[in-house]
Amino acid sequence: MKKIMLLYVLSFLTAFAFAQNNNSTASKNTSPDQPKLVIGIVVDQMRWDYLYRFQDAYQPTGGFKRLLGEGFTCDNTFINYLPSVTGAGHACIYTGSVPAIHGINGNNWWDNNLKKMMYCVQDDSVKTVGSNTQDAGKMSPKNLYVTTITDELRIASNFQSKVIGLSIKDRGSILPAGHAANGAYWYDAQSGNFITSTYYMKALPEWVRALNTRKLVDSFYAKNWDLSLSKNLYTSLCDADENSYESKIFDTVHTGFPYQLALFTGKDYSKIAYTPYGNDLLVEAAKKAIEGEQLGNHTVTDFLAISFSSPDYIGHAFGPNSWEMLDNYSRLDVSLGNLLDYLDNTVGKNKYTVFLTADHAGAHIPEYLQKNKLPAGRWEDKDIKNELNGIFEKEYSISDLVTAVNDYAVYLNHDEIEYVKQFAGPLGKLDEEKIKNMITSYLIKKEMVLQVVDLKNLNRNPLPQKIRDMLNNSYTPVRSGDLEIIMKSGVMSSGKTGMTHGAWYNYDTHIPLLWYGAGINQGHSFINTDMADIAPTLAALLHIQMPSGAVGKVITEVLK
Ligand SMILES: [Zn+2]
Repeated sequence: MKKIMLLYVLSFLTAFAFAQNNNSTASKNTSPDQPKLVIGIVVDQMRWDYLYRFQDAYQPTGGFKRLLGEGFTCDNTFINYLPSVTGAGHACIYTGSVPAIHGINGNNWWDNNLKKMMYCVQDDSVKTVGSNTQDAGKMSPKNLYVTTITDELRIASNFQSKVIGLSIKDRGSILPAGHAANGAYWYDAQSGNFITSTYYMKALPEWVRALNTRKLVDSFYAKNWDLSLSKNLYTSLCDADENSYESKIFDTVHTGFPYQLALFTGKDYSKIAYTPYGNDLLVEAAKKAIEGEQLGNHTVTDFLAISFSSPDYIGHAFGPNSWEMLDNYSRLDVSLGNLLDYLDNTVGKNKYTVFLTADHAGAHIPEYLQKNKLPAGRWEDKDIKNELNGIFEKEYSISDLVTAVNDYAVYLNHDEIEYVKQFAGPLGKLDEEKIKNMITSYLIKKEMVLQVVDLKNLNRNPLPQKIRDMLNNSYTPVRSGDLEIIMKSGVMSSGKTGMTHGAWYNYDTHIPLLWYGAGINQGHSFINTDMADIAPTLAALLHIQMPSGAVGKVITEVLK
């Protein structure tokens, strides 16, 4: 009897202990799945369809199949502003906001107050740190009006969280890392070094200096660039290798494999950006940042923002249907798999969260479209400025009413308009209204133009709501133009060869959005999501405040 009693008590105690245990597990599960490290990956100029079009080139151990298979993919993610370019893209991803609020309405814009062209991360008050290239380091996030998710992480952790930005492009590193970053580093094509600016620090940290000393670019050049997959994969998935409409980057004759990069060793550090080795250089820098800054090894969450720029350089030169592009993505897939392995081994599996997206997608090369009977054309923004000024020169002998045409936006010279409107000429008063009307009726006759929109009076134009929203989201009085030229599908301003992006069309604005790791569900969604939803979703995952200007929503399906 005593024995039975004892067993009864024991089993009660065991059950109680189990219950306690279950409770503590339960409370752990309901508390946020806080990652030790967030890795933000932006692939510059990645079209969403590359995830699927190039599937046969991706390895089971590579990055894309792991992120797709074990993580969450938002398959209908779009950009909701204009122009769809790098500066605006990185700003939107990390602020959850749009150019009308965050202020980065392009890579460059005409500043209506300063009356000059500005570069999105230009800051003439700071200096280069890490090389002798003077202009390469006159950069900071000061033109960005709002906070980033990385800023909010710094604030939420009382500045204990470490935030580092890394990219070949300055803007791909600076805008993601935010205002309060511990460091942002980018590639100086003159010296082959990763550099920063005095905005962040007076001298490079030891891990960046050690990385620069290794002169990795030369060892990548020594490998040259040849196909990484079997040849039949290129012929079945791509256009021909040599095309007259591709740009000649590596010599004056060829646009086909193999490329002799060894010729540039010690001479020209700019070429690496046009090869997949630019991605490998960045992955190596990322590993050194994790080691050097002990990212993921603190009591609070750290953040590493990486932006792979080489896919954009390769895209501009060779286009989305080139062998170079397929080879880039096949190698990037391997490099990303390699980075995930590294994170598993250092930070620990499921202890970090990754998201992967793009700052914009990209169009097919116009001549590639045309040879396949698809609509396309080339346009030159620069020529249009002179043409437009020519109209007024002829009628009124005034030659400078248009100050700039940039990213399909026409900027008027408002000082000159104020002056000339006082004088009524033989053709009546030349006021802003009349000038806009004259420009619009001139441009609308052009074969490649679909619409010309008065940006301050968007409701005047019959316009699909989607385009109206995108233009509304982009208007900032100091940095925007007066009229927006909406080109027909497939038309772009991109020189004589290669391609570009920047338009509202799906080929420029449909981007991948993959999530993976701590706190992330496994699955996929075709629900329409927006680039501006990324930062609010991260804020929810991390249980921190959204960036100050965020207008996106939390994508709840993604989160556990
Ligand atoms: Zn680009």
